[in-house]
Amino acid sequence: MRLPQKHRIPCFLPIFLFLLAGGVFGQQRAKIRGYITARPDEKTIMIMDDAILFGPGIGFQMQDAPPGKQLTAADLTVATMIEAEGVWTGKHQFTADKIKCDWDQLDKQIREHAYLEREPAQSAELIGGQPCQLRADGEVLVIDENTKREWHGRAQMKAPDAPVWLGRQIRYSGRRRPDGTMAVQSIEIGALPPADAYETPGKRKLVRAQDAKTGIDILEFRKDKKVEGRFKLFPVRDVQEYVSALGTKLIPPAAQNPPMSDIEFRFYVVEDSTANAASLPDGSIMLNTGLLGLIENEAQLAFVLSHETAHVLQAHYWRQENETRTKRVLISIGAAAASAYVGNVAVFLGQLGLAAVANGYARRLENQADRLALENVVEHGYDPGQAIGLLRMMVSRYSDRSTSATWSNHDSSMLRGSFLTVQIGLRYPRQEFKKATVDSDTFRAMRENMGPVKIM
Ligand SMILES: [Zn+2]
Repeated sequence: MRLPQKHRIPCFLPIFLFLLAGGVFGQQRAKIRGYITARPDEKTIMIMDDAILFGPGIGFQMQDAPPGKQLTAADLTVATMIEAEGVWTGKHQFTADKIKCDWDQLDKQIREHAYLEREPAQSAELIGGQPCQLRADGEVLVIDENTKREWHGRAQMKAPDAPVWLGRQIRYSGRRRPDGTMAVQSIEIGALPPADAYETPGKRKLVRAQDAKTGIDILEFRKDKKVEGRFKLFPVRDVQEYVSALGTKLIPPAAQNPPMSDIEFRFYVVEDSTANAASLPDGSIMLNTGLLGLIENEAQLAFVLSHETAHVLQAHYWRQENETRTKRVLISIGAAAASAYVGNVAVFLGQLGLAAVANGYARRLENQADRLALENVVEHGYDPGQAIGLLRMMVSRYSDRSTSATWSNHDSSMLRGSFLTVQIGLRYPRQEFKKATVDSDTFRAMRENMGPVKIM
């Protein structure tokens, strides 16, 4: 028996539902992640330039929360990292129906470790149990009589002028004080990093060479005698020399002492139109023409180079391998790959199992590199706010794209830009940077010599 007409399912209904779900009639759902940079009112959160409004019936969700703990609007204070889900309801305006946050964001106890990049100014007080301040890990650590202090090789550290602190690992726990400094509850001064923390896996080396046929300058990525890949160096010598001189000038003092003095820092501008930079554990830093072409001034470039240098000095590759349990799949590259030039450094390094080198380490290691880079640029007289300017530009430029590289990924730029905004606010709350260096004649001359480059 045939069903009456009205009981039949119209064949276009599934298509209609599909279109509805796909956002043709509704608004496209989106997610944004970042650190809260301001709380203008009870129902609004700012992440850099974007206002996140609390929609009706908004849900709050805390991940990994201890029993009985629930996320409330009041917990969403400046410096908390959140993920908001909802829809864009205007330019720089997002209406959220769900906000998620990890419990560790609300746990105000900070535990971190880093290698000392600078000799402490008050090492005698630190040893002697007196109150003092220690600049480390891009923070100001405030140590008092109640701070639990422990160290490795105490006797050796008593020699007053011996440079035994530089490069050592410090572990600290504490709480952020209202002035942005850290009240330290415990501090432990540990050992120097092992020398193998600064080796590229497989003892690979990046070696300068010349193409036999064309005579152009290249870099060869070698494992023993085998060439795994070849990168084209940007051919303008003045550009290479300027970037190398700036990078070298910015290397923190820790690099003067063993084992870090064995790191051979080398800065290269490679022809790759993606806006990215990468550093190998052995100190080879590759800056793509795509990123150099986007950088607006010397202060921004100083930040980029300092960030990559911090990954090297802080042994982030080694730490990522030893402290996190990320499984890596090593893919061996066939001889065919070596015959042509590498077009995308990040993709190439990913194929070698070195994805973190170009696509980013764990969030806390990236944050550490950003904190140390901010401190380093301030130390060299640059305006740290330019770093935010660079990431803000990347957010708008890559707003509708999502590449995997750390410097040109929209999600990563927003997270990093908001982190830097928070960090500058905490670390330099009353400092003025109006007189700090933004640009230089040498930077502008370099850009002139560089000419236009392709930027993806
Ligand atoms: Zn990084």
